[in-house]
Amino acid sequence: MRFDTRLVRAGEEPDPRYGDVVPPIHVATTYERRVQDPPRYFYGRGENPTRERLESCLASLEDARFATVFSSGQAAAATVLSLLRPGQRLLSEEDVYPGTNALFALLANQDIQVEYADLSDPQVVASALGGPDVAMVWIETPTNPLLKIVDIAQVSGLAHDRGALVVVDNTFASPLLQQPLALGADVSLYSTTKFLAGHSDVLGGALVYDDPRLHQSIRSHRTAVGNVPGGLDCYLVRRGVKTLSLRLNRQMETAARIADLLMSCSTVEGVRYPGRPEHPQYAVAKAQMAGPGSIISFDYRGGPPERLLDRVRLFSCGVSLGGVQSLIECPALMTHRPLPPEVRASRGIRDSLIRLSVGIEDPQDLLDDLREALAPDPQPSGPSRPEQP
Ligand code: PLP
Repeated sequence: MRFDTRLVRAGEEPDPRYGDVVPPIHVATTYERRVQDPPRYFYGRGENPTRERLESCLASLEDARFATVFSSGQAAAATVLSLLRPGQRLLSEEDVYPGTNALFALLANQDIQVEYADLSDPQVVASALGGPDVAMVWIETPTNPLLKIVDIAQVSGLAHDRGALVVVDNTFASPLLQQPLALGADVSLYSTTKFLAGHSDVLGGALVYDDPRLHQSIRSHRTAVGNVPGGLDCYLVRRGVKTLSLRLNRQMETAARIADLLMSCSTVEGVRYPGRPEHPQYAVAKAQMAGPGSIISFDYRGGPPERLLDRVRLFSCGVSLGGVQSLIECPALMTHRPLPPEVRASRGIRDSLIRLSVGIEDPQDLLDDLREALAPDPQPSGPSRPEQP
């Protein structure tokens, strides 16, 4: 099956008893069994048929052997980080989701050292991996919110030479646009809350990988800590996945038009969109992604960022991304506020930075909304008043 067919069909085989084209949602927390038989389904924290159908679909989207889903992207990240042992070192791209920074901060309690570097710069990658043994390399690409692109194949090759496990947070791209395992990574991580579910109405996370030993550790950890999604949530994610390609292709078409508009606005500087040739890693994005995605960031020069956030009418001012509704936010005031200002500044996240997540509304409505909101304030006209003495 080709990718778009798998989006709709993988793991959705009808139950022969009923033939329903939408499999039933399993909500049971326990399963009746003959006590002398080994149970296939034992308890909902460990096994659930609706969860398994979602997992089989997500694994199939990356031609992988395994996928494990979680109650959120953070839960998925916490489980993969549980693979690290005291004394080990984690090397991470510096421009990552701030919730990931928060999880990394917890690792200090276990004597695991975290180091940040600009992994979009090939020179930096070579020297950062040259230090003392790194057990895990954490890539997020495109990065949040600067939309830098990390070369997954290059970093994975160098990391594997040193025996490190490579995790790619593929939330911004989704498996439609980027296939981290095929590029050499060991684990793809998703906040399924975003593009995969796509409707801003369910939280979820996933890890996708090929190694049976990883599977054993990841499943044991999830069952032990219980960071599982329920059947209803798995159903919602699975339903969203069916339209991923339709949604994201439309979102990208509109995003490209919005990026063009932003380039022509006098109140905008530094448009960051991996689909534009001016993007510093445009060539890497073109080679490793099937499309540049639908997230754009830029610096607003028309006044304080609140001015723009107040002026938009259709874009909703809110965190998160990847849903059908278009969203606008100012990282320094919202998603990235927990980072100290000097850390934001060192990473290049200015107070004027704005991030857009482009939805599926009529493109012209979105363009009109932004054009009006970004228009400079009219200069006061007519003869200037004489100054008061
Ligand atoms: N990774 C990225 C890139 C994100 O943007 C987010 C959330 O915004 C997460 C992980 C965490 O996902 P969740 O909110 O589903 O826990």
